[in-house]
Amino acid sequence: MTDVLVAGAGPAGWAIAGACARLGLDTALVDPAPDRPWRYTYGAWRDEIPPEVAPAIAATGRGNAIGTVNHELGWAYAVFDNGALRDRLASPGVRVHTGQVRQGDGHHAAVLVDATGQRRSLLGGTRPEPAAEQTAVGVVVDADIAAPLVSPGRALFMDWRPHHGECGWPSFLYGVPVAPDRMLLEETSLARRPGLGLAVLRRRLRARLAGYGIDVGDRAEERVRFVVDTPLPPRHARCGPVVPFGAAAPLIHPATGFSVAATLRLAPRLAAAVHDGLDRGGPRHAAAAAWRTVWSRRALAVHGLRRTGLEALLAMPPQHVPAFFDMFFELPAPHRWTYLTAREDLAGMVGVMRALFAAAPWPLRRHLVLRGLDFGRRPSENGSLRR
Ligand SMILES: Cc1cc2nc3c(=O)[nH]c(=O)nc-3n(C[C@H](O)[C@H](O)[C@H](O)COP(=O)(O)OP(=O)(O)OC[C@H]3O[C@@H](n4cnc5c(N)ncnc54)[C@H](O)[C@@H]3O)c2cc1C
Repeated sequence: MTDVLVAGAGPAGWAIAGACARLGLDTALVDPAPDRPWRYTYGAWRDEIPPEVAPAIAATGRGNAIGTVNHELGWAYAVFDNGALRDRLASPGVRVHTGQVRQGDGHHAAVLVDATGQRRSLLGGTRPEPAAEQTAVGVVVDADIAAPLVSPGRALFMDWRPHHGECGWPSFLYGVPVAPDRMLLEETSLARRPGLGLAVLRRRLRARLAGYGIDVGDRAEERVRFVVDTPLPPRHARCGPVVPFGAAAPLIHPATGFSVAATLRLAPRLAAAVHDGLDRGGPRHAAAAAWRTVWSRRALAVHGLRRTGLEALLAMPPQHVPAFFDMFFELPAPHRWTYLTAREDLAGMVGVMRALFAAAPWPLRRHLVLRGLDFGRRPSENGSLRR
């Protein structure tokens, strides 16, 4: 019997498979195309990236964000070299197989990790229709061409000014270095149910960049579409032998769409939980410990608050969105950092919510309370948050 079978060879699959193999666990990784290069641009806050994978950073930039005015974030953003990241996560101890893992295939492994991304092929669960999605269209240009929008050495987390000239659902420009002399410029819809169409984002990107004299021409595009409200796994699956990880968990932060850094940080802890669980009590013990590591009570509670934040954002009148982000970026740095990165700091998260509420004008406070109550009443997420 294999100790750990990992389904999915994305960042989450390789992070957990490599971490398990390095602890001496017998580990297999299965994916329909395990050697396919990761083609998306993966970024994260620089200080969130574990030291072991820091050499895989391709470029960094000091972060700023614009609602209606500029805010310095006080920390840097980093983008990975995907090939280098995979090399650093991988371990020669992992047996790699080409194929697809199906539900029920786990009986040859003590623990089966579902790292199949947002489809969560093994654990399944019901999905709200339509899903809330983040969508974006981007192009990579030389850093000197991008300079009127993003200065060299900088990373623009978001610029909500409607310089694309359109009304309607708000979108922002995301501009990050992908190499010291190359910049990704992406028109992004943070979240919408369903996602804002890529044709709209493409048109806005072209118009926005044209306003700065940048002709997109026929450059290759990065097209982004992924779900930000994947529900928690069904209650009946909790503590069973199939453990979700990465986007399947879902580790995606509902209000930013980021999951890679959280995944990289959690992988060694998850591997250690499986290792110790197997040592102490066998497969059932290991799976239960793994579930507790991915979804501790605090992580579940923080996830619930983040989801409440997402619902409040989705229901916000579009014209208020840039000013809302001004308010968020005016919060003290520890609050912003907690909101963006801390998965298990419940007290910190409540503190952020309080600070945001205190800073909000009355109409926005009313909106935040009503949306929070609304979300709390939803049976599916509510039920799955109680353990
Ligand atoms: C264009 C784009 C840009 C993004 N940018 C960022 C970013 O900058 N920062 C960030 O933090 N997040 C980003 N995300 C969000 C998220 O972090 C990514 O989706 C990330 O790829 C999730 O990693 P993962 O390993 O969990 O899943 P995936 O990368 O989706 O990998 C899942 C793997 O599982 C395989 N698989 C599926 N079914 C099976 C099965 N039954 N058996 C075996 N294998 C299976 C798939 O082939 C795939 O290789 C981005 C998403 C997109 C789409």
